[in-house]
Amino acid sequence: MEFQRTWHGATVDGHVHMGPVDEESVLLDIMGAAGIGQAALASIQDPQRGAGLGGPLMMKARHPRRFYVFAGPNHALASAPSGAAVPLAEQVGRLLAAGCDGIKMIDGKPTSRRTLNVPVSAPYFADYWEAVESLDLPLIWHVGDPEEFWDPSRAPGWAVEQNWCYGPEDVPLEQLYAEVDEVLERHPRLRVSFAHFYFLSADLRRAARFLDAHPTVRFDLAPGIEMLYNTSRNPDAARDFFIRYSDRIIFGTDIFTELTAAEALARAGIVQRWLETEDEFRVPPEADFLLGPPTDGVIRGLALPDGVLERIYQGNFADLAGTEPRPIELAAAADLCHAIAGVAEALSGTPASQTEAGYAAQMLEAMA
Ligand SMILES: [Zn+2]
Repeated sequence: MEFQRTWHGATVDGHVHMGPVDEESVLLDIMGAAGIGQAALASIQDPQRGAGLGGPLMMKARHPRRFYVFAGPNHALASAPSGAAVPLAEQVGRLLAAGCDGIKMIDGKPTSRRTLNVPVSAPYFADYWEAVESLDLPLIWHVGDPEEFWDPSRAPGWAVEQNWCYGPEDVPLEQLYAEVDEVLERHPRLRVSFAHFYFLSADLRRAARFLDAHPTVRFDLAPGIEMLYNTSRNPDAARDFFIRYSDRIIFGTDIFTELTAAEALARAGIVQRWLETEDEFRVPPEADFLLGPPTDGVIRGLALPDGVLERIYQGNFADLAGTEPRPIELAAAADLCHAIAGVAEALSGTPASQTEAGYAAQMLEAMA
């Protein structure tokens, strides 16, 4: 996908995922090709495998100026047998002590709700929210999903394939939003970057009301390809929105390290072209399957001015998490990985030392 870039400054990607440590070079290649200097690694933990956090912590250890780590709660660790259990609020403290830059949550995506059917506004999370707010930790938070996922007649094929289609047994989108409203009401100082534009791109007036009501929250631009199609229906209105809320929008790609370099480049390119140019274009054929096929629709570029691009590509993320990542604390990071590995062993029977967290712990210790 060839296009003329108008932004030539530095770029921070506020929403990237990586797997285990051995994906280091893949990720560096992708970032180099896409012109991304720094990235926030959004770590979602898989307690069974002890996966999700070790790789990002290693990246931070090896490239301390390039990687921010936002790490999610480990619910199995919270409910481990006494002695091994680390309650959610205490996990927040340990993530911070290890050198993490913030919190990543996916509690609020309907599929997470299928595994742990506890609203974020429930007492289970009360001390946790206290801790996140009082420690002033930024949060990348995935809440909801595109509204069409709840409608079998409108859900895209690739979403059906991921089992991301929701029926009456699933939590309704509006309930998820209402639960977040409750949390924000109780904790008005929470600094949240809501992933994927908070899935409000089809209703920019509502998006504006939400941002007006919550001055400490932001939206990230990780696709959700529907976000680009929605804004393309009325690009002038979308452009006005982006200019008016230019301090509240963070560039993101949702690049993940299972992608090929070509797919990752296509993913970043779609977002960059949408923000920078006035091109009309389609998703290129080489894009990954989560972006759908080129036939799904036309994207119209927003041709945002340089000052707005500067906010979106770097300034707003810096306001959220600082211009430099926090330094890793190797011993504390290794300890945390050991705790995660121990729980993975208890759950799966895989020896702790052979889980992803176990490997990472050994590598972090060797660096200490
Ligand atoms: Zn993501």
